[in-house]
Amino acid sequence: SIPVAIVAGIGRAARYGILIKGGEFLETSAKITAVALDKTGTLTEGRPELTDIVVLDPAHTRTDVLRWAAAAEAGSEHPLARPILETAAAHGVAPRGIPAEVLPVPGKGIVATVDGAVVLVGNPPLLDQHGLPADAVERAAGAAAELAAAGRTPMIVAVDGAVIGVVAVADRIRTDAREMVTRLHAAGVKRVVMLTGDARPVADAVSAATGIDEVHASLLPEDKLDVVADLQRRGHVVAMVGDGVNDAPALATADIGVAMGAAGSAVAVETADIALMGDNLLRLPEAIGLARRTTRVMR
Ligand code: ADP
Ligand code: MG
Repeated sequence: SIPVAIVAGIGRAARYGILIKGGEFLETSAKITAVALDKTGTLTEGRPELTDIVVLDPAHTRTDVLRWAAAAEAGSEHPLARPILETAAAHGVAPRGIPAEVLPVPGKGIVATVDGAVVLVGNPPLLDQHGLPADAVERAAGAAAELAAAGRTPMIVAVDGAVIGVVAVADRIRTDAREMVTRLHAAGVKRVVMLTGDARPVADAVSAATGIDEVHASLLPEDKLDVVADLQRRGHVVAMVGDGVNDAPALATADIGVAMGAAGSAVAVETADIALMGDNLLRLPEAIGLARRTTRVMR
């Protein structure tokens, strides 16, 4: 039977908006020594805004670049899609067409068929994967790197094998992210680690602003899982916090998978051992502290 203290602990947590899906997760939470966090949607608000439209092919205008990007992303649920669609709508720019087929490529971007054209929106590995010429990829990657160096997330737009431009978005860091890292350290967590599919310069900018101990950038969903497994091999009991479908493998591998309830995808909330209601990051150190106090009472 489940000890009374555990039941009471789960009940107390629930009143703080922390849903713990079983007594064993409360006990494991008391032992957490490393916390891995997804960046987009977890450390940041996940509501990026469009900051740049760069034309890389003189046959196209900025409006064309936005039109094609909006057409492809119309079928996407990725947080990067929204600012593109909203900006297009706000400026009365109609998407180039309605996508007939949309294929999200996790960690890389999106492939859509629009008016018979194949449209790619994403990072350089997406272009490589679709056989764009190396010199075109290199030129696009250069333009993307300039935007990334400014802390923005670039997305290259290619139509039928030709790069036409780059759009970039920037996402606000959550106001309680730094305080959360401080409180995790105070609660005895030794390593606070950021995992992101985004580029290194963007990741570094967020890490510097929040006091994160360790940064892993340009990760694919399976790489996130590897970093979690590696922390475990280093002897850590790992909690992983994520919001997206792409975080599901890492959430499942971690000793404790944590989903951000309000912002998180249904898949992330489903996979998680603990769900934090609302968008309050401080509930994470609170959950660990509560778990430590509860299990101390039992001993
Ligand atoms: P994170 O790990 O920070 O949550 P993702 O793994 O979701 O980020 O995405 C990583 C990168 O893949 C993005 O920074 C972007 O370059 C590219 N990407 C993923 N999905 C899309 C999309 N729908 N449109 C454009 N680019 C995308
Ligand atoms: Mg994410």
